[in-house]
Amino acid sequence: ILIPFLGLVLAFWFYSARETFKPEMLKGKRVIVTGASTGIGEEMAYHLARMGSHILITARTESKLQKVVERCRELGAASAQYISGTMEDMAFAEHVVKEAQTSLGGLDMLILNHVGTSYFGYFDGDVGHIRKLLEINFLSYVAMTVSALPMLKESEGSIVVVSSMAGKVGFPFTVPYSATKFALDGFFSSLRQEFHIQNINVSITLCILGFIDTERALHAAADVLLVPAAPRAECALEILKGGALRYRELYYRYGSTRLPLLLRDCAAELLESMVRSRYRLDRIGPG
Ligand code: NDP
Repeated sequence: ILIPFLGLVLAFWFYSARETFKPEMLKGKRVIVTGASTGIGEEMAYHLARMGSHILITARTESKLQKVVERCRELGAASAQYISGTMEDMAFAEHVVKEAQTSLGGLDMLILNHVGTSYFGYFDGDVGHIRKLLEINFLSYVAMTVSALPMLKESEGSIVVVSSMAGKVGFPFTVPYSATKFALDGFFSSLRQEFHIQNINVSITLCILGFIDTERALHAAADVLLVPAAPRAECALEILKGGALRYRELYYRYGSTRLPLLLRDCAAELLESMVRSRYRLDRIGPG
């Protein structure tokens, strides 16, 4: 009886001792948000604007980025600017970071959020697609991190990596996407270990998201998934809180993300069958 009781007391102490988020934490901070023309990235830009951050956003579609920047200025951003280009090109990924150096004089938070287009369905065997998706969803994240590290070391800043439950547990119908998200976990969790060993005070927050109501995700999966999508504005705010509080991992939403992970190592087959039961399999096209 004593051991579980002590466990509960320790858990309560741990959670109550945790710092709480205040919007002032991000006031005046210099932040890059990738994939910010739509979806969760766009919502993160608006939250940051309300908190008074300096924002540099990027994606491919210039017309959308222009509108997001205008809105960020209306909402009170300390400054807002964009650079358009594709993350298939590592030189572009590095160029975005250099722009933060030139125009913001440094960087406090690097939010890696963009995601390349993939398909929802049985794996089609296209190796070239996996290579391309790895470049966009993984290698460009690495390239930006490498370029940003000198600035982040100086500011003792943060790297926020937006990933997915599909990067922690095997999900059907998103094989190429899942592969890129698992790669992010491997790279950034290992890098975090080295930062500890080398006393590098740059936090890495890996964000594990469930199903979120962005246009892309609803279009791809709303018809097939039996779970409701969570609101993207709330999700965006939770990501920013997790980054500002320097969490190692952020789970949104908790019930649909972290709890299955408890099953992963002790009852993997049960978890896999639970995952499969969340799909309307009759609505998936033939492989
Ligand atoms: P969206 O499709 O709404 O946004 C993706 C962003 O990435 C857009 O701004 C898009 O802009 C940009 N982008 C796409 N291709 C490229 C490219 N080649 N180069 C540069 N930018 C590109 O996605 P979400 O908001 O739904 O997802 C955001 C993050 O959250 C992703 O990392 C995703 O994996 C993760 N996530 C989302 C979930 C969900 O259910 N929505 C669930 C789990 C994780 P443009 O087309 O103009 O380039």
